[in-house]
Amino acid sequence: MNNAIYNFPLPQNEPILVYLQGSPERLLLDKELERQSQTVVEIPLIIGGREVRTGNLGEIRMPHDHSKVIAKYHKAGKAQVEMAISAALEARKTWSDMTWTIRASILLKAAHLISSRYRPVINAATMLGQSKNIYQSEIDAVCEAIDFLKYNVGFAGRIYEMQPKSAYNQLNRMEYRALEGFVLAVSPFNFTSIASNLNMAPVMMGNTTIWKPASTAVLSNYYLMKVFMEAGLPAGVINFIPGQGSVIGNTCLDSKDLAGIHFTGSNGTFNGLWTRISTNLSRYKSYPRLVGETGGKDFIFVHPSANIQDVCINAIRGAFEYQGQKCSAASRMYVPGSLWGEMKQCLCELAEDIKMGDVKDAGNFMNAVIDEKAFDTIKSYIDYARNSPEAEIIAGGQCDKSAGYFIRPTIVETTNPRFKLMEEEIFGPVLCVYVYEDSKLEETLDLCDTTSPYGLTGAVFSTDRIAAAHMCEKLRYAAGNFYINDKPTGAIVGLQPFGGSRASGTNDKAGGEYNLIRWVNPRTIKETFVSPDDYRYPYMM
Ligand code: NAD
Repeated sequence: MNNAIYNFPLPQNEPILVYLQGSPERLLLDKELERQSQTVVEIPLIIGGREVRTGNLGEIRMPHDHSKVIAKYHKAGKAQVEMAISAALEARKTWSDMTWTIRASILLKAAHLISSRYRPVINAATMLGQSKNIYQSEIDAVCEAIDFLKYNVGFAGRIYEMQPKSAYNQLNRMEYRALEGFVLAVSPFNFTSIASNLNMAPVMMGNTTIWKPASTAVLSNYYLMKVFMEAGLPAGVINFIPGQGSVIGNTCLDSKDLAGIHFTGSNGTFNGLWTRISTNLSRYKSYPRLVGETGGKDFIFVHPSANIQDVCINAIRGAFEYQGQKCSAASRMYVPGSLWGEMKQCLCELAEDIKMGDVKDAGNFMNAVIDEKAFDTIKSYIDYARNSPEAEIIAGGQCDKSAGYFIRPTIVETTNPRFKLMEEEIFGPVLCVYVYEDSKLEETLDLCDTTSPYGLTGAVFSTDRIAAAHMCEKLRYAAGNFYINDKPTGAIVGLQPFGGSRASGTNDKAGGEYNLIRWVNPRTIKETFVSPDDYRYPYMM
């Protein structure tokens, strides 16, 4: 046993490579994009370190060119989910007892593999499978994934360091045990880094997981799983089982050994999991830890003192990068009448200037939305606005799914501050604007706070610092990540811990101690040195 007390300092964030034409990283990436475009990968389940094939296959198609299949994956049935639970429980015995520095070294090695050899592989899979452009993929699948891995090692050290005081004649200590059972990690399609973190955060703290990846992100997630194994992750610590959500979810949720859920995805799915857990409560060994980051209806609130160009550029990036498929994407905007004329023109010109298409063409700022279901849902919101007397489409509105699932960046102006597109999460490239009278700033701030059930991200723009402070105060619970003079997207691990409350989730702030602390089950140990000589207290004698 090595008794060293090791200290992992918090890291520097992974530098974002720029991928200029002809740069070494661009050449490597282009080659890998070509290779992956020509290949159909067969993806097995990975249970207890072994590949398992069920023959029940799903397909991964490029969203921007849906005639192209790039992977086929085996789907888990109930029997495989039960195998995975057994494998996770078996692996837990050794993993949870292991010196934490060894667990840390595996996370750090995974980070270095992603930073080097696997960088083009993970990027190409995310670009082709989830339709992200180079920059969007680099900041997510590579940089954020690495930051989560490295920071969580540092944060784990801080948690283990937290020890109670000892008093006269006693020694106290805190043991940070892993949860008793397995953790179900359910990941969304939109961030490869989140998929990594939903597993690796609990794993860092000694837990083992069942990983249910989103069906449209199985390819990049499979490469992540390969990285983890190459980094030395023992068999069964993460069990990778793509398949139908309800089959995997229900089987895991009905197990007495469910110790926690680490979820990112929609509000509806998380509510369904929570409801089933609550009806199952009496069967669990422990109360399962429920950590879920869900949807958003993120706002930009413009003060009459704001700089118009700053607002427009940030609104375009905040609303339309990755086709608006970020939980943090700006999707409703409040603009004072005094600025609207000029701002409308500027926003519409920028939106119409955006190029959209294949991820391999670096000139494209936007690509396709993830699949046909998402396309149809987003289009239904655009059609709703088109047919409403309370709204006007002032930019975009065109939708075409003939070759890929393309939706032009769309800006809707509404006269109703509680219009459906101001309230509901659309999860696509649609920004709805409500123009308020300058004299009604206070009422409009109240509207912004109460219009949607979510509380994830929000931004205010103002050159008047006192007004910005007032808006920040007034919108205190409207967003868990609040921005002043910046877009509401793009949180960076270690710099802006991420998460929101209300209907946006449990706000356990991914990428920080706050999150990691949910994955431990602390035991307080008190040792007394010398026992009393008498059961009676001195005052009694
Ligand atoms: P989704 O809810 O459709 O799916 C999320 C995951 O849940 C997928 O893996 C899906 O297969 C799985 N799932 C579905 N039903 C299940 C069940 N019964 N049991 C177990 N698993 C089940 O979400 P999505 O479309 O992948 O992602 C988009 C959503 O995620 C948006 O609402 C977005 O706001 C949210 N999101 C939130 C954050 C955040 O940090 N708050 C980050 C990214 C995405």
